Amino acid sequence: MRVPFLDIPGQYKEVRHLIDPAIAEIMETGAYVLGKWNTQLETELAQRHGVKHGIALNSGTDALRIGMQAAGIGPGDEVITTAFTFVATVETIVQVGAVPVFVDVIENTFDIDPDLIEAAITPRTKAILPIHLFGQLCDMPAIMDIARRHNLMVLEDAAQAIVTSQDGVMAGGFGICAGVSFYVTKNLGAAGDGGLLLTNDDEVARRSKSLRVHGMGRERYYYDEIGYTSRMAELQAAVLCAKLTRLDAWNARRAEIAERYQAALADSSYGIPYIRPNNECTWHQYTVRHDDRDAIMAGLKEDGIDSAIYYPVPLHLHEPYAHFGGGAGSLPVTERVSKQCFSLPVGHHLSDEQADYVIQRLLARQSVTA
Ligand SMILES: *Cc1c(COP(=O)(O)O)cnc(C)c1O
Repeated sequence: MRVPFLDIPGQYKEVRHLIDPAIAEIMETGAYVLGKWNTQLETELAQRHGVKHGIALNSGTDALRIGMQAAGIGPGDEVITTAFTFVATVETIVQVGAVPVFVDVIENTFDIDPDLIEAAITPRTKAILPIHLFGQLCDMPAIMDIARRHNLMVLEDAAQAIVTSQDGVMAGGFGICAGVSFYVTKNLGAAGDGGLLLTNDDEVARRSKSLRVHGMGRERYYYDEIGYTSRMAELQAAVLCAKLTRLDAWNARRAEIAERYQAALADSSYGIPYIRPNNECTWHQYTVRHDDRDAIMAGLKEDGIDSAIYYPVPLHLHEPYAHFGGGAGSLPVTERVSKQCFSLPVGHHLSDEQADYVIQRLLARQSVTA
């Protein structure tokens, strides 16, 4: 049996009756930028997330960078985050002129350990940037409490956490702003790149809208500050609006598959993800841990099952970021889970038979390598 990691064309087939006419209309009218599909996407997602503003952008990376800049983070500021993330989280901190400060993660949730944050705070600390990794929110009550007591901003990396909530509050409803990604492989994926900034802050929203068009002010060709080109193409917004009609159904199917994995692997030698009881998980990835990861992944490949490593090397061990961290050994949990973690297919394209086959092969492979 073949179990592919993703089925991107399969998503298109489900909504092509919405995408094809929308694309034809855009091409025929010539309304290529900042049009009605941008507005619809921004409005619907701001509403879903329970925040005042959604600002459609070129990428999730731009949402983080523009959000940070609009929130006033810049040279001299320190931003506390983790090294167990996609590079964009940390790259954008550096790009706005700030300094990333890494703290370790929790082993079975892969996200920032709130107990370690306070020791990393200095007089230069301006913000905490938690990453809602793999489709579940970080421990936000603990993080928000620390931020309040130390007068810090919180910015959320919600790239992997669209329509994901904690205690009924969606990503973006905690910090000053949150960046969402629509990269192809995300739960809601564009036909290329796209991103969204979510915020309740009117000034952050105003500045972000200006920054996405070169820092232009109210008047055309007059500039308030130095900005970027970061508009979302209408073609992308139309694709996203079409797929958004299926997102809840797709996420529900992801949850069914993930729960099948959770039950079947609970008593195995695999470390399974822990989902906080107050979290609604959207399972962007289903990620397990095992000391024999590489042998098991090679075995699964022979079995026809795709798997992938998010992320093989933590950011403080990459040359361009090494000087921000304390080197090998400085983030023991991050470094350990980077060697153990691997993600299994969990998309809505999987049948029950495929999910059961994954489970059966995982259980067989663990005894062979044990
Ligand atoms: C995907 C991702 C980003 C960046 O989003 P792009 O749309 O690819 O620019 C940032 N952070 C995390 C955790 C991501 O997974």
